[in-house]
Amino acid sequence: MENLINKTFKDFENITGMGPYERAAEWAAYVADWRSRGHWNYRQMAFSGCGPRVGLQLEPGKRMDYVSLVSNDYLGFTQHPKVKAAAIAAIEKYGTGAGASPAIGGHYDFHGELERAIAGFFGRDAAIVYSTGYTANSAMLQCLLKKEDLAIFDSSVHASVFEGGLTTTVKTFPHNDLNALEHILRLNEDKYRTRLVVVDGVYSQDGDLAPLDKIVALCKLYNAMIMVDDAHGTGVIGERGRGVMELYDLFQEVDLITGTFSKTFAHVGGYVVAKPELVEYLKFHSRQHIFSATLPPPAACITTAIGLVDEEPQWMRKLWENVSYFRNGLIGLGLDVGNTASAIIPVKVGDPLVAAEATKLLLEAGVYANQIGYPAVSKKDARVRQSLMAMHTQEDLDQVLNAWEWINSRLRLNERKGEIAYGYKEEAT
Ligand code: PMP
Repeated sequence: MENLINKTFKDFENITGMGPYERAAEWAAYVADWRSRGHWNYRQMAFSGCGPRVGLQLEPGKRMDYVSLVSNDYLGFTQHPKVKAAAIAAIEKYGTGAGASPAIGGHYDFHGELERAIAGFFGRDAAIVYSTGYTANSAMLQCLLKKEDLAIFDSSVHASVFEGGLTTTVKTFPHNDLNALEHILRLNEDKYRTRLVVVDGVYSQDGDLAPLDKIVALCKLYNAMIMVDDAHGTGVIGERGRGVMELYDLFQEVDLITGTFSKTFAHVGGYVVAKPELVEYLKFHSRQHIFSATLPPPAACITTAIGLVDEEPQWMRKLWENVSYFRNGLIGLGLDVGNTASAIIPVKVGDPLVAAEATKLLLEAGVYANQIGYPAVSKKDARVRQSLMAMHTQEDLDQVLNAWEWINSRLRLNERKGEIAYGYKEEAT
């Protein structure tokens, strides 16, 4: 395949006339091309758990510690002694697996407690737990919406929401564009059986927020339902960590609250919080729920992690000290952090190859962060994505800021606004 440098992951999803082995060969050539430039940093194998620093082995036999900006364990609860103790105690009591799907024997008391805990966290009465956040979104949408319904997505919602839209009619509006959303709602006011608007609370690549008060008002005006996936806002946004719904006190107005247990809540799994009758319906009609085994016993630790958000508010305070210190530091260097208002802080560079080069240089400076390009973001909006944790020390963050100062002096990122061209600028003398 010619000109691999301009290809994106998307180009390999399907290639006309090529079967799986031929596509895999094309893909292997693409990866080899990235590796030859030192730009391949996906699927790095870590040798330590989630934390502010992580052990990586980038060269054979040479294991090193890096400042980690890749974990969504925002409050550091994966390493909290009470969370670990709860997981261990549950394994001692129940063993390691759940053994069956929920309808036929795989529903345990710790699942029931977890459902009550997550519903209560949002001040609501009912919740259903799924095996991942991805499944919570995709399975629930596929269950509730059919072809005669309309799903209206913000263009930046998570991939799992788009998967949920595969079995219904979908329209998308440009990210956070309320006029475009209203236009779709007005045009379709009397069409379709159900209209459901789907937004994230915090957007996973930009770290910006949905203007939820205005979106909920539009849904009311045009008689549409609303779903909010606040995977990245939960435990982070609002005085009590209830996410973007807390900012506007909209807990009762949102029809479907979804999220994940894999970020603040320190384990794995996902949830849908909704009115009890809808939750009961999902329990017996959401195919990925009824035909798949439930979360294993260590998931009992999630209930402990949910409780810790209220019991130990110091971690959220520390997270926000880190966020403002780091964000201000990047802005001070003249870097473009977009509209972030959360613990996800991108450095937006535009050109995917510049993002790849910046990520490589970060590793050289002892910092592990992710380069993000199309299709996760638009083709000219590549960036380095960074997630902060409460556990980062000022020393960690200074190491990253120093690294960015050095990278900026080599790549002149703050002079590149709008420019799409790869290569080093002349070194300043
Ligand atoms: N929603 C959003 C906004 C996400 O960012 C993610 C995962 N990063 C998910 C849902 C899926 O969550 P999980 O990892 O639990 O499948």
